[in-house]
Amino acid sequence: MQDQKVFSAIEKLKTEMTNVSMQLIRTPAIAPENGGEGELKRAERLTQILDDVGFDKILRYDATDGRVPSEKRPNIVAHYDGEETAERLWIVTHLDIVPPGEDSLWTITKPFEPLIKDGRVYGRGSEDNLQSMVASIFAVKALKNLKMKPKRTVALCFVSDEEQGSTYGIRHLIKQRLFKTEDLVVVPDGGRGDGSFIEIAEKSILWMKICTIGKQTHASRPELGLNASRIGMQYALALDKILHKKYPGKDKSFVPPGSTFEPTKRDRNVDAVNIVPGEDINYFDSRILPRYSPDEVLSTMRTVASDFEKKTGAKIEFEILQKTIAPKPTEASARVVVMLKNAIRMSMKVRAKVGGIGGGTCAAFFREIGIPAVVWSTVDEVAHQPDEYSKIQNLVSDAKVFAHMALQM
Ligand SMILES: [Zn+2]
Repeated sequence: MQDQKVFSAIEKLKTEMTNVSMQLIRTPAIAPENGGEGELKRAERLTQILDDVGFDKILRYDATDGRVPSEKRPNIVAHYDGEETAERLWIVTHLDIVPPGEDSLWTITKPFEPLIKDGRVYGRGSEDNLQSMVASIFAVKALKNLKMKPKRTVALCFVSDEEQGSTYGIRHLIKQRLFKTEDLVVVPDGGRGDGSFIEIAEKSILWMKICTIGKQTHASRPELGLNASRIGMQYALALDKILHKKYPGKDKSFVPPGSTFEPTKRDRNVDAVNIVPGEDINYFDSRILPRYSPDEVLSTMRTVASDFEKKTGAKIEFEILQKTIAPKPTEASARVVVMLKNAIRMSMKVRAKVGGIGGGTCAAFFREIGIPAVVWSTVDEVAHQPDEYSKIQNLVSDAKVFAHMALQM
């Protein structure tokens, strides 16, 4: 009975939830690595929203970062006390977004001008990670409106820097020893369209910057230089093939089941068509099944590079941008998994399954310190794409799941 009361209270907050989501889309939070000013403006907007809800305690744990104008990467924790304060349900969402990409690819609206269409909110960050952020806030707001004390303390955690490795975000909070092994941790930053997938394992992550150095020259006299662009591309294609061949393993509990090795970003090189580039910079994003070691993948990259160096006379240098070793998965029988499954069944009438993904969410950092974290939300997986959207219905149903987790025995 209590469940139904909360669920209908959440339904009634639908318009308000949508509005808050739109307000936050209008305040972008882009990392300095991608030319942004960081998350402070969004954090300030969010603090006003949290103040209105009336949490018991709102705390800030900012990390210092000289690369952003404010020199602050904000992290916020909002507590709503439960009958049991020793047991805490953490819901961790991230403030930062990835850049919008080419404006022209956005066909419904501009990335930071949110628009509602066909029951969806469009805009950069709408799905990743505002949907879950707003759902977590309104789960608490519904309880508060009904003057219902949750069974356990609900701690909402809003972190910076998730998209770039979390040094100034969740890793900063973990260093402050905010979390305990008995904590229940939900990271709603991934999932399926029907809410049926609970992620309990991630792959290892390896992000590489690959710099090929040749010699710049006029394009009409290529023999006087060494075309780094050609060698860089050839190297990337060769590497792509070799890595897939050398690490072919599959594990059906992961989506997708194999390791992934993707050439992604390329830095701009010369300013004119008639210049042979002397430098080529490209990037690889690898998500590696736990059975393989990222260091071994790295040494394969280096071996292939030295073959190319010998063959071409170019120099190939590496920079590791991120190396995260897959931690031990969360047990399928962990209390947080059981509670989440129950909440999904009761509020959405869905039987959820557990499995692994390519990562990397904040959950990996919790697993590293022995806290069984789960990743779950109801999303169409349009994150990082143009025309990113969030279904309003998902905002509402995810809030119901969070509220159920707060209340259940
Ligand atoms: Zn995300």
